[in-house]
Amino acid sequence: MVPIGRNGCATRQKDVRGVRLQSGDDYEDTLKYHPAAQKQSSMSEGAELPGESQTVPIVFSQDVVLFPHMEVTLPITEKRSADAVLRALRENHLVAFVPSDFERTSEGIGTLSLLTHSETTQGGVRVNLKGLWRVRVTNPRGLDSEQVVRVERVEEAEEDAEGPNLVQRVQSQISELGEILPEIPQEILSLLKNAKTPSELSDLCAMSPALSHDDRVNLLRTLDPQERLKSVNRHLDSQLEVLRALAESKPISDCETCTDLADRAFDADPSARGEMIMEFLNHIVSNHTAELLGVLAEKYGPMFMKKRSLR
Ligand SMILES: [Zn+2]
Repeated sequence: MVPIGRNGCATRQKDVRGVRLQSGDDYEDTLKYHPAAQKQSSMSEGAELPGESQTVPIVFSQDVVLFPHMEVTLPITEKRSADAVLRALRENHLVAFVPSDFERTSEGIGTLSLLTHSETTQGGVRVNLKGLWRVRVTNPRGLDSEQVVRVERVEEAEEDAEGPNLVQRVQSQISELGEILPEIPQEILSLLKNAKTPSELSDLCAMSPALSHDDRVNLLRTLDPQERLKSVNRHLDSQLEVLRALAESKPISDCETCTDLADRAFDADPSARGEMIMEFLNHIVSNHTAELLGVLAEKYGPMFMKKRSLR
């Protein structure tokens, strides 16, 4: 499957670049998602919704983790996945959309998804998928051994007394995020504001570009909605912490102290230079942490990711 423009980070990201927080453009360009209720398509009416357990074609995805409540448009270029889509189109338009992390296992968690639109392209097929619900996906011979797998709906645990509180906490984090990052589309903010249950809210938040693929897979396999929302809450906390610091501190290019320290470090005679550079770097580390990380991520991020994926 073709990556959908996440890793390249080629879109505008303003000064938050490098802290894995991307502008609204990224949301809009890559993942067109809608509240399930607002989007009706002709195909979804014809499809038969499944019972508790059945077999459906499996589509593995390396890049995209699809959650219930979400609708995505994406190209499918890998042959076995494109074939699975074609099979689903001949059957009941349902696929198990499963992160390729589970490929070699005999059981995994995926999202039962409805194909609401498809068109063939040069490299494969382009589909619109609507995530319905989490399913436990099984094949004793290995999930990647056949085109179809058995899926069983994962029942969501009941919300307890803590639920509404947790929803409120995350909602206020989202409001703050919306204030700091005006580039997040209003459409997305109001979609999130309308999510009332821990299950829906956590699944919608899981699509945030601030989360890594691994974060998303972990959220997908966390079956308790409240646990999931707690984890989202922690992610948003650390994201907000970085953003608040970023909003407060001047960029290096506007900082008087940096200019002075840089002058002194570059002009110092060789015997004193080491000490001056140390002072300069210490200032940057404690006063421009986020920007420094951004610079490093921008320059070395792709290389680090590549090395990590090879490990
Ligand atoms: Zn400075």
